[in-house]
Amino acid sequence: MFLTNLFNLKKTCMHEKITPDMEYGYCPDCGKLIHNDWYITRCSCCGVKMKAICRNGVIEPQNHYCTNCGSSEYIVEQISKINFIDINFAVLQRHEIDENVKYSNTTQCWQEKTVEKPKLLVQYL
Ligand SMILES: [Zn+2]
Ligand SMILES: [Zn+2]
Repeated sequence: MFLTNLFNLKKTCMHEKITPDMEYGYCPDCGKLIHNDWYITRCSCCGVKMKAICRNGVIEPQNHYCTNCGSSEYIVEQISKINFIDINFAVLQRHEIDENVKYSNTTQCWQEKTVEKPKLLVQYL
């Protein structure tokens, strides 16, 4: 019981009421301004779109290898406006926006993206 309470205290708002069809809006649960950002992944070799997922806070393709050319290299691309074709490939990230300092407060996922390199090295071991 004690542990459960501790967990609840630490729990941060997921802003679930900001639906994916909104570009941005104020979260009714915590009052923060939330921006919906969409990302897709592409094969960096042939440029074909790969379905993006968010794994441990990192945006990466669902498949490890490109179905078109077999490459494992990929790039992450932000799309400004979601459309019904890209929505099949895209992953949604919700960013909290500090209205005093624009875009200073990003989600964990985006910050952790910079540590992609060490993770790739680990896979060779
Ligand atoms: Zn919220
Ligand atoms: Zn490819």
